[in-house]
Amino acid sequence: MAKTTQIKKDIEKSNGAVKITTKSTQWNYSPSLESTDHIQLAKRYDLFINNQFVKPNSNKYFDTINPATEEKIAEIAEADEKDVDKAVQSAKTAYEKYWKKLHPRERGKYIYRIARMIQERSRELAVIETIDGGKPIRESRDIDIPLAANHFFYYAGWADKLQFAFLNRTPEPIGVAGQIIPWNFPLLMAAWKIAPALACGNTVVLKPAETTPLTALKLAEIIRDCDLPPGVVNIITGAGKTGAALVKHPNVNKIAFTGSTEVGKIIQKAIAGTNKKLTLELGGKSANIIFDDAPINEAVEGIINGIFFNQGHVCCAGSRLFIQESVYDEVIRKLKHRMKSLIVGNPLDKNTDIGAINSKQQLEKIHYYLDLGVKEGASIYQTDCALPSKGYFCAPTLFLETSQSHRIVQEEIFGPVLTIQTFRTVEEVIEKANNTPYGLAAGVWTDKGSKIFNMTSKMRSGVVWANTYNKFDATSPFGGYKESGFGREGGLHGLLPYVKF
Ligand code: NAP
Ligand code: MG
Repeated sequence: MAKTTQIKKDIEKSNGAVKITTKSTQWNYSPSLESTDHIQLAKRYDLFINNQFVKPNSNKYFDTINPATEEKIAEIAEADEKDVDKAVQSAKTAYEKYWKKLHPRERGKYIYRIARMIQERSRELAVIETIDGGKPIRESRDIDIPLAANHFFYYAGWADKLQFAFLNRTPEPIGVAGQIIPWNFPLLMAAWKIAPALACGNTVVLKPAETTPLTALKLAEIIRDCDLPPGVVNIITGAGKTGAALVKHPNVNKIAFTGSTEVGKIIQKAIAGTNKKLTLELGGKSANIIFDDAPINEAVEGIINGIFFNQGHVCCAGSRLFIQESVYDEVIRKLKHRMKSLIVGNPLDKNTDIGAINSKQQLEKIHYYLDLGVKEGASIYQTDCALPSKGYFCAPTLFLETSQSHRIVQEEIFGPVLTIQTFRTVEEVIEKANNTPYGLAAGVWTDKGSKIFNMTSKMRSGVVWANTYNKFDATSPFGGYKESGFGREGGLHGLLPYVKF
């Protein structure tokens, strides 16, 4: 709180720009806390290799904390190169000995079993996701965990039907997949990676993010309890160095990475000249476009969902808003009104709309951009919602009067911060929306189907949502253009990175 207050004061002082805040119109809801009584967490977690939890070679552990309370939850093993080697060897043996030889129908049964066990343990997984990562319980309960189970169900179905996915070709597995995931959707990203890899007959070494390892380790327990052949899935924890060791291991045949564009580029360089296959799901700065014929109330809800969902920790967050000039005043008025009712606070409270920022470093990064936006001459708008006195929290923020050249418009902030611009014509907004190094997603709000089709064909982004935002489905491919990466995850397209012909 002290830090946030200080930053707010700094913003007020800097550059003479105006900071507008308005009184919150929140109703006083009684707290509705999700129970944590049913959660069992160990004090310390080891590496999951060959279906066993084993101590790290270095005997080093790091803390994972609850970003809403700043309290330590557990100690997590730090894998070094020797541990990475052990995990990769175990995956290689499992691939040669069992997994590639197993009848695809049997592979499918194992994947179904994982999906069902995720469903059975969904309450526990949702609470742990929220405690470890800071996202509101409503989201982890209703979105992250059900979607993670859906991915396993969906790809379990493909395991024995691959010949129908690739007609007139014979798909073969690749071997050992090294998979590295970020902290914004920890269990869901693990599911996006593991499910298609297993369905296609590959084995896996997965590294979750340093700040959110717990649900991946719970998934390790599930995989052990599902009796998967030892070594088919290995989960190793650690920092960037652990990920780098996995990338360069000679027995890893495929790297699947989701994270920042910066690290994606490092990985691409590291594997240049090898025959490793690579998919990259990287950052974004996605445009959400409101035309004057849009259903405005729904569009406002879509803007809120697009940027404030999961504290803006969404690679495809609708972080650049474009409003057609004739409806600008109406949209801004309604958007500010709606923002005043957003509740920022305890992620375990079912009333909470915006939970905790994932880490201190991420909060500092967001504050850096809040400061920068004001210095660049944009005007900042925040509601005066109360922020908890402990933990990493950030008020939902609008930057009005921004321009294409502002860094806050071009760079990924990865927080609840929305930049706003206007436009007059379709051509103008297409040019502006495409004018970033990224190309992950976009939203288009209009009454006209023809306008939607025109936009989808001209937007350089992997996903274009029409009259909705941030909707995901296991059957639908997801991925980027330009510096947002390459390769697709989800749907039939998500099988392709895990097969060779
Ligand atoms: P990050 O710093 O790139 O980290 C991602 C993962 O890579 C983490 O597990 C990280 O470990 C590991 N890592 C760090 N340095 C590495 C290296 N040199 N070699 C190999 N692995 C390394 O990204 P993040 O900050 O966790 O996540 C936020 C970013 O992910 C945002 O840019 C967001 O847009 C992007 N994202 C994209 C998608 C998508 O589908 N396109 C989805 C979600 C997130 P540590 O955690 O220990 O650093
Ligand atoms: Mg944590």
